[in-house]
Amino acid sequence: MAKPATTNIAKVDIVGAGPGDPELLTLKAFNSIKNAQVILFDYLVSPAIRQLFPATAESICVGKAKGSHSLDQDSINQLMINKAKQGLRVCRLKGGDPFIFGRGAEEMLALKQAGITSQCIAGVSAATGASTSSGFPLTHRGISQGCTMITAHAEKELTMNWQALATLNHTLVFYMGLTKANVISSQLRLHGLCANTPTAIIYRGSQPQQQTFHCHLKDLSKCISQHKINSPALIVVGEVTHLAEQLSLQPTHIQSEGQPLPITA
Ligand code: SAH
Repeated sequence: MAKPATTNIAKVDIVGAGPGDPELLTLKAFNSIKNAQVILFDYLVSPAIRQLFPATAESICVGKAKGSHSLDQDSINQLMINKAKQGLRVCRLKGGDPFIFGRGAEEMLALKQAGITSQCIAGVSAATGASTSSGFPLTHRGISQGCTMITAHAEKELTMNWQALATLNHTLVFYMGLTKANVISSQLRLHGLCANTPTAIIYRGSQPQQQTFHCHLKDLSKCISQHKINSPALIVVGEVTHLAEQLSLQPTHIQSEGQPLPITA
């Protein structure tokens, strides 16, 4: 059988950069960065990881910080396609894991449509990276049988099956939830979750600027505004967040009222 015609079109790597600590990069991600001729990266990619970019690589920030100039998704796709068609080794670097609220698959489909092969390189998603670096697990025998990751990003009203979420008995991890904190807190309580459910807000998990705030579910909005917490931040709702204090040598709890949370056995 005749061999398929070879082209000079390079394979694009869609790469997860993890939550920010460069030591949380996978070896595969690190190698893709090091071998890249072009790196298209998001604003979530931390400065420490940007420092690993080869000096010889062209690096382009394609967004998207809220309110600031960035390329739209079609333009990002087109840029990737153009660079790959020039025969360049392209690393499309994204925060966390490309397949968790990261549009990784959308970009792979666009590449496929343009006849370009790609592979996705997994990254440590913010849920696991930020909670672990805040000192608590997402599941724990006897406390939480599971973990549900939820995007709070919505063009208009945030609609989801609150009843199911409130009764799952899972740890609930909300990505992009800061501006929807009020809805998250009130809907979960309305559907039966205890007002005093321990809740954590993690700002820039795993990075030098990391801050973790602990409060009760009912105080979520107050805690965010009181501490002026900005994006990127994760909201984790569940008893597991309490374990941070028991696992750490020093108490780390900060509550919106300024009092440490009581520890339950
Ligand atoms: N693909 C990414 C998520 C992209 S959505 C992943 O797997 O992690 C962007 C949201 O992720 C942010 O608004 C924030 O809610 C969360 N996030 C990403 N990095 C974070 C970090 N280091 N600390 C806290 N939250 C983070």
